[in-house]
This record gives sequence, structure tokens and C-alpha cells, in this order.
Amino acid sequence: MEANRRAYETLGQALYDCHCHWEAAEFWEGVSKKTCGPAEGIRQLLKQKKDAALPLGGTLQEQKDRLRDGGVVTVQYPWMQQCHLTRSQEVVNLVNDELRENEEPTACYLGRSTLTSRDDMLEIHAARPIQKGECILIDRTTTGICSNVGNECCDNCYGHVTSSPTRATCCSAVYCSAACHDLALNTYHKALCGQDFRWLSAPAKGLTHNASPLRPLLMLRILASCVQTSVETSPLDHPLIARLQPLADCSHLDVFTFAESITTPIRILQQLNVDIFANRNFYTMVLHTIWTRIANNKAGAADRERGFVDAISPLLVPFQSQLRAEC
Ligand SMILES: [Zn+2]
Ligand SMILES: [Zn+2]
Repeated sequence: MEANRRAYETLGQALYDCHCHWEAAEFWEGVSKKTCGPAEGIRQLLKQKKDAALPLGGTLQEQKDRLRDGGVVTVQYPWMQQCHLTRSQEVVNLVNDELRENEEPTACYLGRSTLTSRDDMLEIHAARPIQKGECILIDRTTTGICSNVGNECCDNCYGHVTSSPTRATCCSAVYCSAACHDLALNTYHKALCGQDFRWLSAPAKGLTHNASPLRPLLMLRILASCVQTSVETSPLDHPLIARLQPLADCSHLDVFTFAESITTPIRILQQLNVDIFANRNFYTMVLHTIWTRIANNKAGAADRERGFVDAISPLLVPFQSQLRAEC
């Protein structure tokens, strides 16, 4: 009993310290089965937060997120391997290989920044004179999500499918093109095939702005990619995650909730048959690190048909981080 009490106190205090006041109140109410003790004080704090945020307005979901989102300043975990803290030359070489295989003739390449003394800052350079309006890159991503998935749309990019779409042979998934079909099958679809993740997509349905229910959908695609690649290697070595700019130790505040950063990724992994208690590659520290990298590198926009579209674009990521660095 004493051990239980101390475990509850540690978790409750940790949620409070991460500004997850909503989750801390629910946690204490669940533990004591009624609103008393720490929960009562936290509920009062939440009311003050709600009143203070009222003038900001916004949709119901935005008001909910404002109240429920916690936040943590991301730091490097002392036990993380050095190779997971920065982007290696191998990652830079890999991106450059992908750029060379893209539109011909190659228009740009990735290199170390000449504008900053930070080791990990990368820069996109023009490889040749570029004409105004020229298409220099086609960035097909597997990690894009949207809030309104139509009935007749591509399972990978959510674009319209033609009357004779490319069909998966393993299930009912349809694709706008052979390129989307091959990309999905070669990266994440095999891990997701036949799985029902409506519990994850339903809360996002109908959203027209960037809101919390969209976050785990991106996490799902990324975790499925990692699982399909191999559960025997660290997800932080996955080529997509390894290229994302980490912003640890930069006094950068990241959204944190116990549900989205910890429990939902664990539920996803369990459904994908990963034993997170035995497989240390998917330790909670790794899951949170993945989440912060997604949050720092994703880019989204409202879309008339698809509600809100959010994506990690593997080749545009260096452009985005460069823009952020120069702002
Ligand atoms: Zn497509
Ligand atoms: Zn399938």
C-alpha cells in the first residue's frame, strides 16, 4: 500500500509539474474516486486558467487544447547515445542521394550551415542556377495525415483516385498512382494492413484547424514505418526520424500530455504487436523524443476538402528548419 501511495504521488506530482493540470485532476479523482485532496485545488486552478483564456476565443477544440495541453522544456536525456543527439554525415548523404534521384537535373543539396556555429544546423544550397517558377523537387511523403478522409481517396496521400485506381492486393486500400501504392507498401502499409485504427481517426473527423486529435495520427504513420523497417533497431535510427532537427537543450517548450506522449503511442505499438515492456527500442523516452521531433518539423494547412492536412515531408524538412533558423 505504501509503495502504491508513493507511486501515485510521484505520477500525480509529475503531471502537475508538466503543466498537465487536467490530467492531474482526472488522475487524482480516479485515485480517490471523488473530487477531494489535490484534485480540488487543481480544478480551481483549471477554472482560473479557463477564465484567463476566455478572451482568446477560438473553437471548442482550441479552448479544450489550451486548457488540457501541458508543456515541457525538451532536454537531452543524459543516457542517449551521441548519434541520436545530432544529424550525422550519413543522414546528410542519404538526403543528398534522395535529392539526386529526384527531379533532373539536381537543383539543390544539403550541407552544414555556414551561418551558425551550431554543429547540427544544416543548410540547403542551390546546385545550379534556378529559374523562377521551376519545379526543383517532388516530395512524396508517407507521413501526411488529414482530418477528413473521403470515401474515394488515396490511402497514402488522400488525393482523388481515378475511376481505375491502383489497388492493394492485400486489402481494400486504393491509391491514386503506382507511386503512392509502392511508397505505402514499401514503408508502412504492411505494418498497418488489416488493422482498425478508427479509435484514433474518429476524434479528428471534421476538424478544420490544427488540433490535438491530429497529433497521434502522425505518430501512427511514423511508428508504423519504424515497425515495418524493423523492431530490432532504434526508431531514432530510422532514416525519416534521424533527419528531423532535434531542438533539445535550446530552452524549447514542447506540448506534453501523458495521453498523447505516452499512453497513445503505447496503445498504437501494442496494436502493431510490439511488446513495449520487452523491447527497449520503444522505451517511453524514445517515444517522447519522436513526438518532439514530429512537433518541431511538421507543417500543416487548412484544406477545403480534407479539413486540416499535416505532414512531415522528408525532403522539405531541411528547407523548413532553415526557414525557422533564419526567422
Ligand atoms: Zn496518392
Ligand atoms: Zn493491405
